[in-house]
Amino acid sequence: MNELHCPGCGEVLDTAGRTDRCPACDGAWVNEDALVGMLQERTSTLVFLPWHPRPKDNERVCASCGKPMQTVNLGSVALDRCPEHGVWFDANELAALLAQAKHFKPDHKHEDEPEPEHSGLLHSLSKLFGG
Ligand SMILES: [Zn+2]
Ligand SMILES: [Zn+2]
Repeated sequence: MNELHCPGCGEVLDTAGRTDRCPACDGAWVNEDALVGMLQERTSTLVFLPWHPRPKDNERVCASCGKPMQTVNLGSVALDRCPEHGVWFDANELAALLAQAKHFKPDHKHEDEPEPEHSGLLHSLSKLFGG
């Protein structure tokens, strides 16, 4: 019903799995939740998306609502983002981002969380109960 239009060239986007592809310029429109899901499948862990604003170049409008999008970087990939509707990837940018998926694992490696002291006790208990 609600046709999405390519922010790059204005073509109507084709739904392709969890993305909407532009048949003309091969860009991809991805809902942010779907994007997180794709990255999490790659990394088998939770990911977070560290959006970094970048200077505006050519401003594009959201495929869904037509409002000007934010210009952001994710990893080394420069993207356009509507916080409500999704993210626009030019041709190959989606592949480039997925290749960097491991960079979006949460960074806190529990460095200042020492091994919980009761783990030894739990271990003994589980031995006791035949675990
Ligand atoms: Zn296009
Ligand atoms: Zn929008």
